[in-house]
Amino acid sequence: MRTLTVELGARSYPIHIGSGLLSDPDLYRPHLRGSQIMIVTNETVAPLYLASVRQAFDGLHVREIILPDGEVYKTLEVWNRIFDALLAERFARDCTLIALGGGVVGDMAGFAAACYQRGVDFIQVPTTLLAQVDSSVGGKTGINHPAGKNMIGAFHQPRAVIADTDTLGTLPQRELSAGLAEVLKYGFIRDAEFLDWLECHMTGLMSRDPDALAHAIQRSCEVKAQIVAEDEFESGSRALLNLGHTFGHAIETGVGYGEWLHGEAVGAGICLAAALSARLGRLTEAEVERTHRLIAGAGLPTARPENLAPERMLELMAVDKKVLAGRLRLVLLRQLGEAVVTSEFDRDALAHVLA
Ligand code: NAD
Ligand code: MG
Repeated sequence: MRTLTVELGARSYPIHIGSGLLSDPDLYRPHLRGSQIMIVTNETVAPLYLASVRQAFDGLHVREIILPDGEVYKTLEVWNRIFDALLAERFARDCTLIALGGGVVGDMAGFAAACYQRGVDFIQVPTTLLAQVDSSVGGKTGINHPAGKNMIGAFHQPRAVIADTDTLGTLPQRELSAGLAEVLKYGFIRDAEFLDWLECHMTGLMSRDPDALAHAIQRSCEVKAQIVAEDEFESGSRALLNLGHTFGHAIETGVGYGEWLHGEAVGAGICLAAALSARLGRLTEAEVERTHRLIAGAGLPTARPENLAPERMLELMAVDKKVLAGRLRLVLLRQLGEAVVTSEFDRDALAHVLA
């Protein structure tokens, strides 16, 4: 098992990564204040992993709530069912919520923990690659509103993250690739050496070699933990984590939610960010080609969807959350392994890259 720490003073917490962790009581018990445990999961993950996690809490008061599966259920109404369950079972302030599942379950359970009786503890047990390298770390929690994704939420850090790599064995290949988009992102924004490593080990990662996956998850979590420790509430460098995301969100919205997975849109978005960086003289053509090879190697798309017109993409990007004082800001690359947030590009360059 590999363990690293997210350094946030009194709110610091460990991330454990490895095989066979789900049912290990020693990983959970140090973080429990009381004996009431609510496992929040969904109908896909429950039959696979709920029994293993329950084992870790033998002798304690364990209950579970099984949510429907899907981003479309990340709503206020479905989220409220967690409170119904907690209140029906008279859960007290010293209870602990366990988020067992992908990013949807993690965000919903985390946000419920942030709000129940003004805040209770929770532990992230991520079961998708995306959740293990991204959504379970950093304390962003929330739900969707019909007017926008993740528009209602809170910062609430977990007490621990337990990432069992065995769970990735049942993950659909498309979801694995989507997670690799975020893994690659960490290399592009901060770690050229990791990018070299990913280039050499992509075949192993795609075929789920356990050692390769464990290393990729560890390095990804280290980079994310470092950035979160620098800028917990996203007033500065945390914005770098959005590399490829402004392009990506425009793609997700443009093709209709659910058509492209988030990671797929981010993959194409990273290629577009690289192309714009080259247009502005920051990257070489060879670096852009290498970016395409890396993204394609992870089974991800490298261009915008053909049926999404460049003009429509520009429109969608203009309403992005990262627009500040009317200026669109983008994360661009200075080299492979170093990103910057900037609004210094002209619309023509952007339009050219999208075309
Ligand atoms: P997801 O939670 O929808 O999981 C993808 C699919 O895989 C689901 O059908 C799920 O039931 C299934 N699944 C989960 N684990 C499995 C396993 N081990 N085997 C088989 N199937 C499994 O999607 P995701 O990609 O994990 O997360 C996306 C969500 O995360 C979005 O809602 C996004 O907004 C959020 N997110 C949050 C943050 C953050 O910082 N809080 C960061 C990135 C993404
Ligand atoms: Mg993302």
